[in-house]
Amino acid sequence: MQTITTVVELRRAINKARSGGKRIGFVPTMGYLHDGHLALVRASQMQSDITVVSIFVNPTQFGPNEDLSAYPRDFPRDEKLCQDAGVAILFAPDAQEIYPPGFNTFVEPGELAKPLCGSFRPGHFRGVATVVSKLFNMVQPDLAFFGQKDFQQCAVVRRMVIDLNLPIEMVTVPTIREIDGLAMSSRNRYLSEEERRRALAISRGLFAAVAKFQAGERDAQELLAIAKQHLETLDRLQYVELVDANTLKPAEGPLCHPAALCAAAHVGSTRLIDNVLLAASVR
Ligand code: AMP
Repeated sequence: MQTITTVVELRRAINKARSGGKRIGFVPTMGYLHDGHLALVRASQMQSDITVVSIFVNPTQFGPNEDLSAYPRDFPRDEKLCQDAGVAILFAPDAQEIYPPGFNTFVEPGELAKPLCGSFRPGHFRGVATVVSKLFNMVQPDLAFFGQKDFQQCAVVRRMVIDLNLPIEMVTVPTIREIDGLAMSSRNRYLSEEERRRALAISRGLFAAVAKFQAGERDAQELLAIAKQHLETLDRLQYVELVDANTLKPAEGPLCHPAALCAAAHVGSTRLIDNVLLAASVR
């Protein structure tokens, strides 16, 4: 595995790796890797010849009162995990490399960035779209792998790929969970034992709605109400919403389109998100 920190070196390595028509798979991350990230790496290895992972804690997607400086980091451990997983290129630039002095151009996503997390994290998806499009231009992958865990992010990036005519195939990988249902997240490490227990209300609420859906319930209000019974036990619930999986607009009445049940809550000072799809998976 090559660990690379500059765009110049990255381009050189990618050009070399691509020779002979090899397909490049790309997994962008913010590091502090867990099995969720590694599932994306595995998916990339199944579908491409060369896997590139990036680790970059992107400052432009954090709000002024969010956890940018406290975001967990352990580069030596991440590097070893990538090496062991058979990653070909690990791109780990610093903030100056991605945002050199004078940087002043952003990618502004539209309607899909407004609801759900967008309404609680103004500017977040603008930062995501900007950094992902920069990374796409640097890596020039054939395929890019994202986790369903960040459902709205997948929707925003997929729209951006279409709108900006990027020649990249987007692949969404299902959420990897701890044995008790908690969605894996780098932020889980902030949770105390007691918070970790309380955090289970999120996945429990989502799964309760899935069970009802599987038993035949199709009414959006009913399904949402079932999830709320669990989620509203959290004192700092931000939202739980059932939305059309493609438009992210609230689902109403009997579900006749794929829908996503999405939630975000603070448990202690840690913000957690999760979602489930109520339909066949959406790509
Ligand atoms: P992050 O490092 O949190 O920005 O995540 C990098 C990528 O890993 C994103 O595409 C996430 O959606 C994905 N990811 C994070 N957690 C999980 C998980 N539990 N299961 C699957 N993918 C995940």
